[in-house]
Amino acid sequence: MPSHISMRTALLLSLITICFAHVVARGQAPNTLGFINIDCGSPPNSTYVDANTNLVYVSDAEFIDTGVSHNISTDYEDEMRPRLYHDLRSFPTGVRNCYTVRSLRPNTKYLVRAMFLHGNYSGLAIDDLNVFDLHLGVNLWQTVNVSSGETFWAEIITIVPDDYVQVCLVGRLGFHTPFISGLELRPLADELYTMVANASMSMALHRRQNLGPDDQSLIIRYPDDPHDRIWRVLPNPPFSWRPTSTTATVRKVVGDLFEVPSAVMQTAVTGLRLEFDFDADDLNKELVYYVMLHISELRALNRSETRFFEIYLNNDLQFTYLSTLPYLYADGIYGPVTGSTQYAYRIKSTVNSTLPPTLNALEIYRMVPTAQRGTDGRDLSAIMAIKAKYQINKNWMGDPCGPKIYLWDGVSCNYTKSSPPRIISLNLSSARLTGEITSVFGNLTALVKLDLSINNLTGNIPEFLALLPSLAVLDLTGNKFDGVPESLLDRSKHGSLTLRLEADIRSIKKGSKRDWSTAVVVSVVVVVVLVLVVVVIVAVSLCRTRTENDASVRRLNGNNSKEENEDDVSLQFDTRKFSYNELKTITNSFDQSIGKGGFGVVYLGYLEDGTPVAVKMRSESALQSANEFLGEALHLIRVHHRNLVNLVGHCKDRQHSALIYEYMSEGTLQEKLREKSPDSVPLSWRQRLKILLDSAQGLEYLHKACTPPLIHRDVKTANILLNGNLEAKIADFGLSKAFDNDLQSHVSTRVVGTPGYLDPEYYTSFQLSEKSDVYSFGIVLLEVVTGQPPILPGSVHIAQWARQRLAKGDIESVVDGNMLGRYNLNSVWKVADLALRCTEQASSQRPAMADVVAQLKESLELEQASDSEQLQRSYTGSGDLHGKIGYAATGRALSSVDGPAAR
Ligand code: ATP
Repeated sequence: MPSHISMRTALLLSLITICFAHVVARGQAPNTLGFINIDCGSPPNSTYVDANTNLVYVSDAEFIDTGVSHNISTDYEDEMRPRLYHDLRSFPTGVRNCYTVRSLRPNTKYLVRAMFLHGNYSGLAIDDLNVFDLHLGVNLWQTVNVSSGETFWAEIITIVPDDYVQVCLVGRLGFHTPFISGLELRPLADELYTMVANASMSMALHRRQNLGPDDQSLIIRYPDDPHDRIWRVLPNPPFSWRPTSTTATVRKVVGDLFEVPSAVMQTAVTGLRLEFDFDADDLNKELVYYVMLHISELRALNRSETRFFEIYLNNDLQFTYLSTLPYLYADGIYGPVTGSTQYAYRIKSTVNSTLPPTLNALEIYRMVPTAQRGTDGRDLSAIMAIKAKYQINKNWMGDPCGPKIYLWDGVSCNYTKSSPPRIISLNLSSARLTGEITSVFGNLTALVKLDLSINNLTGNIPEFLALLPSLAVLDLTGNKFDGVPESLLDRSKHGSLTLRLEADIRSIKKGSKRDWSTAVVVSVVVVVVLVLVVVVIVAVSLCRTRTENDASVRRLNGNNSKEENEDDVSLQFDTRKFSYNELKTITNSFDQSIGKGGFGVVYLGYLEDGTPVAVKMRSESALQSANEFLGEALHLIRVHHRNLVNLVGHCKDRQHSALIYEYMSEGTLQEKLREKSPDSVPLSWRQRLKILLDSAQGLEYLHKACTPPLIHRDVKTANILLNGNLEAKIADFGLSKAFDNDLQSHVSTRVVGTPGYLDPEYYTSFQLSEKSDVYSFGIVLLEVVTGQPPILPGSVHIAQWARQRLAKGDIESVVDGNMLGRYNLNSVWKVADLALRCTEQASSQRPAMADVVAQLKESLELEQASDSEQLQRSYTGSGDLHGKIGYAATGRALSSVDGPAAR
């Protein structure tokens, strides 16, 4: 409840309110502050002014088209509560129901708040707990777990990348019906809460408390807090805490990251020991929290008085405050914590302090990954319009493309790292569409396949369909069209479009009337042609069978020609075979290259069901023959392991050859280690260890589990690919060679390995064995520990460089500085030591891959065990999420604003 609203402010606010009321009536109207206030479940078109905040609230009807409105039971009505709690919208049907709030400022930081009060709206026996999930766009925000009688709100600070945001309620099987009472959005300046720096990470409120007020029911929010955060008083504070307060204004400092309102900062608690604690949600120690302590000196201290204090977390000293607190200015101490299930804080004065510590307010947030993007904005608008126009009755709720488990029926999307998903295929066959084809289809510009068959569509087939740049398949059969545009027939004739359409329509150009006699003639001709085609196909395939049989006999006799030889490899494949045209379709005419290797360019593609794939084309200039190229994959057909990249299919179509692999969205380990973009978060030591363990297991499998065993021969960080979960898989079997242990323990064929990784023994023996892979993997280990390339500037080899330093016991100087010292030292030493053993000159002294796997498992265990107990101290406000803890104080700009007087 706002504590001080002057008459003038109140008048001004009511004027603003009146000005905006009529705009609001037409739908969503952010007021001058950019605030959006939605009362869920209130009657359509209704607006009102909230008595406490003087903000205008609108009905949610414009933002959602599902759900049922209810009033809460009169037993729960309470005039002291905001009015939005008096009604609500529940969602008895549909797994996911979403609000779409539009006209936002793209790339703006928002505080989004969802509010809930069940209030036994159903009038049935009260379910004590209501459990369902809340999603922000396609990302899980938090689980709502609220009893019927209590109010609850969830808040998240996020950067909204687009001009809209979706908030979805997702039911849990066997649990209660999701519901919502209100939805509020408040834009925040970029300079606030800078730990949310991009759309990939957001902060969900865990706790926000105002300390010190006597009145436990006091709630401070807008207009006292211009950002409309809700500050509640900590209920039942410990007896030993002494409240203190001032009536003077507590001001913010330049560079203040939090702008805690004066009304909150005017009260505080002091005490010899200020203690509080909180548990990680679900006792998950992987979660990262940000803890913010808001402090200010509310008393003018005399010269002999000091208020110095120390902050301990789980008994470890985290921060020492050794200067006098700024008098009547807000300061803040904040930092991330992770790795524990419980966080217990203790603030106590230092020995030379004359006064006990003080604390004015407290905020705790949980970091929430929100990297997954919703569907491209234009595609989203288009598909929403199509849904509305044809009243499509499917599971079409929330975002069409994501999360993938809630992909809309009949929709396929492509997913890339760099841009939001696009809709590439739309199947509306038998969807009871009536009327003309809406021009909105023309806005789905990434469509590759459109199926509108078996509906009641009428009128002329529109011209704009021919203009969809990527459209490769268009099925319009089973409708009642009047005519077809020339342009569409032309595209079909030239082969850039597979057009499925009744023959009689094909003959009727757009605008002309249906001529039934022509249609009959055309149908007869088509049937005759079809019969002829079938006869020809049967004849040709009979010939081919014979020829193939002959060819295989000749192969057995060893007298096959070169041309037939070209087919050998292809014939051995039992993976899916793609035609060149199919590759063109799935790669959208090869429009997105994701890399280039020795054989040629690798493209991103999507199978019919939306599964992304990497299509590795053999370039015409490649030195290797098609057989050599496809030969790479023959190894992969024999081996299947979760740490070896999976082969999906191949193509051998005239001069075109390609291999189609599962898509590894996070690219290569090499890029991940050396990526220097401002957004990129360096890999933590734990992530590095998991990646190493995955890759080592892949190699171990190649060496030991395959019969005959395989040597990879080109192990390097560029051949270790990572998927979205950062699981690693070994790729690029172009150089792999199988050999039979019983007959020989090495292969001595031409080696084209990569400089820096190649076994030094090879230079003298020209022989490679499994231990050569171990050597190369040792270089990978060193790269991962140090973040350095295999050949350092000045042509120094990484093994030599690291060996010299490690011999002196100097590990700090080799470890990758990007890890900011956040690792268990024993764990890193173990891997460094393993790397040295793997890169021994004599192959006999190198461990086998099985041993490497065992050592890496132990290192990972060391790191995991230490993670939870050893919260290290480091003074940084970088917000690095892999770190254990870092603290920084804000308000440091204080002296530059007001100089010593401020203190
Ligand atoms: P070479 O073939 O000369 O050994 P390379 O291993 O880098 O070189 P490719 O295997 O053709 O060559 O891969 C080239 C690039 O394409 C890789 O660096 C990677 O960025 C990307 N790439 C390859 N396969 C995939 C995949 N399955 N998923 C995602 N990206 C891939």
